[in-house]
Amino acid sequence: MAAQLQATRTHGIDKNVWTELVQLVSQYQPVNLGQGFPDFAPPQFIQDAFCEALKGGPMMHQYTRGFGHPRLVESLARFFSRVVGHQIDPWEEVLVTVGAYQALFTACHALVVIIEPYFDCYQPMVQMAGGRAVFVPLRPKAGGGAVRSSGDWVLSAEELSSSFTPRTKAIIINTPNNPLGKVYKPEELQLVADLCVRHDVVCISDEVYEWLTYDGAQHLKIASLPGMWDRTITIGSAGKTFSATGWKVGWAIGPQRIMKHLRTIHQNVVFHCATAAQEAVARGFERELQLLGTPESYFQQLPAMLHPKRQKLASCLEGVGLQPVMPEGGFFMMADISSVELESSEQSAEDQPTDFRVVRWLIREKGLAAIPVSAFYGPEHSKEFDKYIRFCFIKEDSTLDSAADILKRWSHERSNRP
Ligand code: PMP
Ligand code: GLN
Repeated sequence: MAAQLQATRTHGIDKNVWTELVQLVSQYQPVNLGQGFPDFAPPQFIQDAFCEALKGGPMMHQYTRGFGHPRLVESLARFFSRVVGHQIDPWEEVLVTVGAYQALFTACHALVVIIEPYFDCYQPMVQMAGGRAVFVPLRPKAGGGAVRSSGDWVLSAEELSSSFTPRTKAIIINTPNNPLGKVYKPEELQLVADLCVRHDVVCISDEVYEWLTYDGAQHLKIASLPGMWDRTITIGSAGKTFSATGWKVGWAIGPQRIMKHLRTIHQNVVFHCATAAQEAVARGFERELQLLGTPESYFQQLPAMLHPKRQKLASCLEGVGLQPVMPEGGFFMMADISSVELESSEQSAEDQPTDFRVVRWLIREKGLAAIPVSAFYGPEHSKEFDKYIRFCFIKEDSTLDSAADILKRWSHERSNRP
């Protein structure tokens, strides 16, 4: 019985894009614009905060409060009370998790609507929780010529509303979105909010890239819309916030009536996260609270640092005929690979999605890693979107330059081919 349940819960999700591509990257050592992590050190202040935490006495090396280190839940509550317009209770309304991954895992249950493209772990998490995912895709606006910005990818209001049924328990949204870079506009969030209220549905809002927006795009928390605090779980990640993905500190923030269920799952799965890392993240937020809105704030410095990198990658992709979709937020960029013709071995693997074939070939033959975008779609729509691959630009300029050299050489070869 247990084995049977186990088999249904894990059926078809034993492999994922990360396990395969991280392995290929370690084998071929390409220039890596694949998995999303900075290839530079986190800012000095947060490294110092971790070192100080480690030297902060014996208790920094022992268990702390299971639902979140007191200093961290207090600083998260203080910080996010400012941005969400609700006085957050640190003891009842904040849960610290092992990365945003675990926050998502504790939040996923029952029948869940997922907007595509979505961060790929949502569907397996819903399945493991015994639920079922229903997918609604964002699509490039029809009839507008070449689509150049992630803002041109939109939801169909009819498609979204018809995906809600009396059994729907939750919807997961991700803004700024990975892999597309879309930053939801107020009216788009309002559409989601209205449906949540009408159908009494919980909104799981993955906002791990909340500080990273460009060209005037503004991140809005759906929890701050009227009637939404009480039905939203907002998820964040210190990995993205402070460029320290290896620390695996995340959080879920929401109303007590929902958070009590997440706490029950948390206490029976991991119980507790690394103390010193939480202490360091608390110190980081305390600093940011003081600097909020000033040019010294890391939350202003990081997008300012990434903006030229985004330009660099976009011009390079454009220059080699891989039309980029300009992201309004986050640190990923999708590029259209329709113009690419595959060579020999990969051409034969025709049962495989085109983007996977291109990415494997790029890693092996050209020494450049990217991520296939169809991995961010459910089975119904993945074929429709396998003409895109995703590049990560939170990388040193030298890494981006090496990637550009590879892409230029490849484009030259393509144009010289008989
Ligand atoms: N959500 C999104 C949209 C992501 O891109 C990621 C990847 N980091 C996560 C959640 C997981 O975050 P963490 O590394 O903090 O577990
Ligand atoms: N969020 C990161 C990305 O999208 C890392 C994902 C992972 O390593 N599982 O690339």
